[in-house]
Amino acid sequence: MFYPEKRDGFSRTGKFEVEGRTVQTPAILEVGEIPEWDFGLAPTSLKFISEELYSRLRPINEEVEILTSLHLLSPRQLVQVFEDLSKEGVSPKPLYAASSALPSNVSLLIYLGADLVDNVLAIAKAYSGIYFLGEVEVEISKLRRLPCNCIHCRNRVVDEVENLLETTAKHNTEMLRMEVEKCRRLILNEELRNYVEGKVKLNPEFTAALRLSDSLRNHSTFPRFRKSRCNFSALESSSRFEVRYFFERALECYKPFSDTVLLLPCTARKPYLTSRTHRALRSKVKVNVNEIIISSPLVVPREFELLYPAVNYDTPVTGHWSEEEVSFVAGWLKRFIEKGGFRKVVAHVTGGYRKVVERVEDEVEAEVVYTAEKDVLSDESIERLKQEIESKGKVDLYRRILEHMLSYQFGITWSGKVAGRYPELELLEGKKRLARVDRIYGMLDIYEKIAAYLLEKNIYTVEIGDFEVKGTIFAGGVLRADEKIRPNDVVVFHNSRIFGVGLAAMSGKEMAGSEKGIAINVKRKFSF
Ligand SMILES: [Zn+2]
Repeated sequence: MFYPEKRDGFSRTGKFEVEGRTVQTPAILEVGEIPEWDFGLAPTSLKFISEELYSRLRPINEEVEILTSLHLLSPRQLVQVFEDLSKEGVSPKPLYAASSALPSNVSLLIYLGADLVDNVLAIAKAYSGIYFLGEVEVEISKLRRLPCNCIHCRNRVVDEVENLLETTAKHNTEMLRMEVEKCRRLILNEELRNYVEGKVKLNPEFTAALRLSDSLRNHSTFPRFRKSRCNFSALESSSRFEVRYFFERALECYKPFSDTVLLLPCTARKPYLTSRTHRALRSKVKVNVNEIIISSPLVVPREFELLYPAVNYDTPVTGHWSEEEVSFVAGWLKRFIEKGGFRKVVAHVTGGYRKVVERVEDEVEAEVVYTAEKDVLSDESIERLKQEIESKGKVDLYRRILEHMLSYQFGITWSGKVAGRYPELELLEGKKRLARVDRIYGMLDIYEKIAAYLLEKNIYTVEIGDFEVKGTIFAGGVLRADEKIRPNDVVVFHNSRIFGVGLAAMSGKEMAGSEKGIAINVKRKFSF
């Protein structure tokens, strides 16, 4: 039996009960302890030569889905086999990538959806004289001493090891096990993507597979909000699901109020409003216009700065912007300026940020003025900025931020009183709390009144059976769920007696369709 637990994109952790023992997945199965499953008569690659033949010769098992020798597939084929298995949603069986895993590719296999791997290749490599140093493979004949401290290698001189190949096989297995364990930890922390983006750089084929996965696969099980920091260190970072979703959703929900938009550079500290630069600027200039913050790869209208990933990311800052960065960011900036219908763009930016604005200057109808020279906080720069944007009137920025968050997250509008100290904002009605900023996930948490409203409108709702609700709701207890729900979404569950707010642990489709695993982690409940 397989009980999925924590999801992070295509990957997940879980418990797999097999032949009387329980393994925590993703897991490595060792040769000798692999159950007598049907491995079929042909490797997965046959699928791309003859679908018909493969369907006759492929492995068929009740408790596990087996794919074999995936390291022999092209990047496109690799992505394809995982996509085919998850087409109908998430696979209820664990996916076992047999004879496929090496320390260099196992994180990619797990990212793509493998729950189980084995040490077949690690052993085969050992018997062909290859010793793993992490993901680096070295010839054992070139070593004088075994450079590892595991129980198999510790303090041993190569020439004196009697059963050298067997020892190497055991060591290689440990190296692979360590890598699988890393991935398990990273999934629990929702950080696997950061790691895989770095890891795929070891091999252009792995990089190609990640890129193809981003562009070809269905990402309906990916979360919109995450508790981990987004490290935008690679070219692939800008094609992450959360980046694409953020842009599209923010563009959809963006409701500017002024004719002028002020463009500002991003800051290392997030949210931007808490940074020294943005605070200093706002203390000198009264900002009563819309603002858009330029970063790489993000472009963030001020109203969305508390949402994930804008609220929690890091990007390498060198002052140099590559051509790809400039054109990617400029493309989205242009769309936000057009959506806002702004008549004037005041660009208070320098260096690479300015390059981005110059790229869109001729393509937008708005008049573009630059107000900063060298330092955005210098007296001259501030004076010019004042001349361009200062006016009377006052904008309730925090209210706008909360309204945009409600629209982005639930597609609803609500008015209330704003309280709290930025960024810990709350929306109140009288003394009753309606919603509160959850900085960890970069979203809003909601309370009774908004939960009741969502229930009435049937938005992000989950109908459950009439049982007593404790800390978690299992998929088996779910009767119906909104198909829009993704893991980490704030949802409203209900039965005939109570309703409440919780955090989705799986997608709505999976909650409704599967029998096992945690569906919702309960935050609070109310009676009707
Ligand atoms: Zn070792």
